[in-house]
Amino acid sequence: MINVTKTYLPDREKLNSYIDHIYSSGWLTNNGELLQKLEKQLSDYLGVEHLLMVSNGTLALQIAYKALGLSGEVITSPFSFVATTSTLVWENLTPVFADIEKDSFNIDPTNIESKITEKTSAILPVHVFGNACNVEEIDRIARKHNLKIIYDAAHAFGVSGMSKNVLNYGDASILSFHSTKIFHTIEGGAIIFKNKEDYEKAKLMINFGISGYDRVDMLGINSKMNEFQAAMGLCVLSEIKQIIDGREKVWNKYKVYFDARPEFKTQKRNNSFKNNYAYFPLVFENEDLLLKVKKELNEKDIFPRRYFYPSLNKLSYLEKYEPCEISESIASRILCLPLFPDLSPDIQEYICETITKHTTNDD
Ligand SMILES: *Cc1c(COP(=O)(O)O)cnc(C)c1O
Repeated sequence: MINVTKTYLPDREKLNSYIDHIYSSGWLTNNGELLQKLEKQLSDYLGVEHLLMVSNGTLALQIAYKALGLSGEVITSPFSFVATTSTLVWENLTPVFADIEKDSFNIDPTNIESKITEKTSAILPVHVFGNACNVEEIDRIARKHNLKIIYDAAHAFGVSGMSKNVLNYGDASILSFHSTKIFHTIEGGAIIFKNKEDYEKAKLMINFGISGYDRVDMLGINSKMNEFQAAMGLCVLSEIKQIIDGREKVWNKYKVYFDARPEFKTQKRNNSFKNNYAYFPLVFENEDLLLKVKKELNEKDIFPRRYFYPSLNKLSYLEKYEPCEISESIASRILCLPLFPDLSPDIQEYICETITKHTTNDD
């Protein structure tokens, strides 16, 4: 079976040596040694300060909202994984959708200002498929209206720019380290805060608000990463260059193939930041064509995914429906193609040919 991605399993001996360490220390969770080591290595690799490891990307979002004191309405992108919106609803915040740019698939800054009301407390943009948002413009709008910015950077691991990493923008950015992401800790995530005080507050929050023996200083939750997760992370991080280089080769092949076929659209990248080759999204001319291709590939046990579908403004549990024409159109026509370092060239070719066959030779 070929999926949209394949979880990277690092060298087993290396993992065993970390597990031996856990057995001899007897320290399994609660800010353990391996966790501290991973936190330090990740901060260096990403070029960030105030990085807090948590148990998953979804709780990373929820804790960031709490630590930054969000309330009322939050302006966000309708084109993302469901967690971007569901976490807001879960925290009793109201998502307000600003439609996306049709080429970058990121929130369109020119749609943000008209959505701001006296209830708006923050903007929650997404670096979709690791493609950096127009961070300067979003920054300008947030400053003008005194709003917080939280970036859902779940896809943006290692997306560095000329002078700084994309994670250095906004009041906070969150990462997901789920097994399907390019860097993973089985399940896991992190929050990168701009301010030290917010980081310190969140650090208490993820451990029940406990600040010391017999002391509870604030309302908290349990969102800690454990030592087995950190062990996996240390192993994967030590092999991250091979992972990204391997993906780049496959990504480039798709890019060359589909750039020569203008009936398909690929994502327009923000060239001020590096690509991490996490996804290869492809936009079809219409949904029927996408469904035909998907069916044929599925029959051969190949599973590209409809990332992202449906457009989040159409979720059934929202209070009201706000139309987002571009996001709805892209969501109905986009497929992320299988992409991982050891995808065989033959299968990649088969995928490409199956996709293009239907436009030229339709039944
Ligand atoms: C994966 C993902 C999340 C959630 O992260 P988990 O670690 O799976 O909880 C949030 N936002 C986006 C955009 C994602 O892709």
